[in-house]
Amino acid sequence: MVLVQLRYNFRLYPDTAQREALARSFGCARVVFNDGLRLRQQAREAGEEYVSDGELSRRLITEAKSTPERVWLGEVSSAMLQQALADLNAAYRNFFASISGKRKGRKLALPRFRSRKDNRQAIRFTKNSRFKVLDNGRLRLPKIGDLAVRWSRALPSDPSSVAVIKDAAGRYFASFVVQAAEEEVLPPVGSEVGIDLGLTHFAVLSDGTKVTAPKFLRRAARKLKRLQQDLSRKINGSNRRKKAVVQVARAHARVADTRRDWQHKLSTTLIRENQAVYVEDLCVVGLGRTRLAKSVHDAGWAGFTGMLEYKAARYGRTFGRVDRFFPSTRMCSDCGRINDKMALNVRAWDCPCGSDHDRDVNAARNIKAAGQADFNDRGAQVRPGLVPAPRGEAVTHPDAACSTRSVEGISVH
Ligand SMILES: [Zn+2]
Repeated sequence: MVLVQLRYNFRLYPDTAQREALARSFGCARVVFNDGLRLRQQAREAGEEYVSDGELSRRLITEAKSTPERVWLGEVSSAMLQQALADLNAAYRNFFASISGKRKGRKLALPRFRSRKDNRQAIRFTKNSRFKVLDNGRLRLPKIGDLAVRWSRALPSDPSSVAVIKDAAGRYFASFVVQAAEEEVLPPVGSEVGIDLGLTHFAVLSDGTKVTAPKFLRRAARKLKRLQQDLSRKINGSNRRKKAVVQVARAHARVADTRRDWQHKLSTTLIRENQAVYVEDLCVVGLGRTRLAKSVHDAGWAGFTGMLEYKAARYGRTFGRVDRFFPSTRMCSDCGRINDKMALNVRAWDCPCGSDHDRDVNAARNIKAAGQADFNDRGAQVRPGLVPAPRGEAVTHPDAACSTRSVEGISVH
């Protein structure tokens, strides 16, 4: 089994006392790192031997704590300070490997001094520093406290280390390193599902489930719209406008974050509960030219189907995009008869065969059937494994060459 290191980032919300403790830790880690760098530079200039990792740790942490100049190092986690020196040692090792040609790639420079004015402050805790994710969801950091974390998803296993980062905007993040099996194939399940990405609902499933974007997301989107309208009324170059621009940017980021978190939960559930997931190949580019563009892009289907695709690959499920060459909306999923075109506002219809259809559920059932025919024929047409990278999670861009033919099935009147 191949193990990979995955990084999981979450926002942290330290309270006032914790922010002070973090500032102290950032400061101490910086001092120890810089002391180490200075000691090695001086040794080098004096023509002395390279100061070993062990000696550095003894002189700059253990012994330094008993001197009046550095007595305050005792106020922070010493394992965290060791880690700051470990970072310095790693930077030196990389530098030596680089100049000796052992390390490929561009040549590295010697480590540089850290400054309190750096855009990014970071400290690291490893297993032996006894950081802990508590049952109540808080992150316990030695000599700092139990910090509130916004968990946007679950960690797949126990993290081996965590870095705490403060960025230029004053936000705090926890970056966990987790060892994970490259493939975490889930035990097979019997059900398969077709998904109609609708306009009245975010998604409608072939089993009749209708998924609506949650209220908090719709509310946040409404607020964003209002802020954007406010912004358009502000005079160019005014202070009020500058303030409004920042507000819109913040609201926009919040909506995007919230939507991504929600889509992660939904896509994980769908992949866990189904052996195969089929969606229509929407060709969002084609749709985007119509007046539906705005709601389509708000719904963020491209990002969502991308999540389904890589999660299916990771967990050993089938994912298929079904070409919309057939009119999935007006074809009866029971008898296969193709009925007359329907206006968008027709939400339910009856087929002459006697079946009553909900428009979207019927479409989802057709998508499921088409997907099963395409992909499930015991490997006959299973598309070769081009597994998209799970990291980064960039929104997948629909093929620009997609022809308008693909959207024929969607009746836009
Ligand atoms: Zn029928």
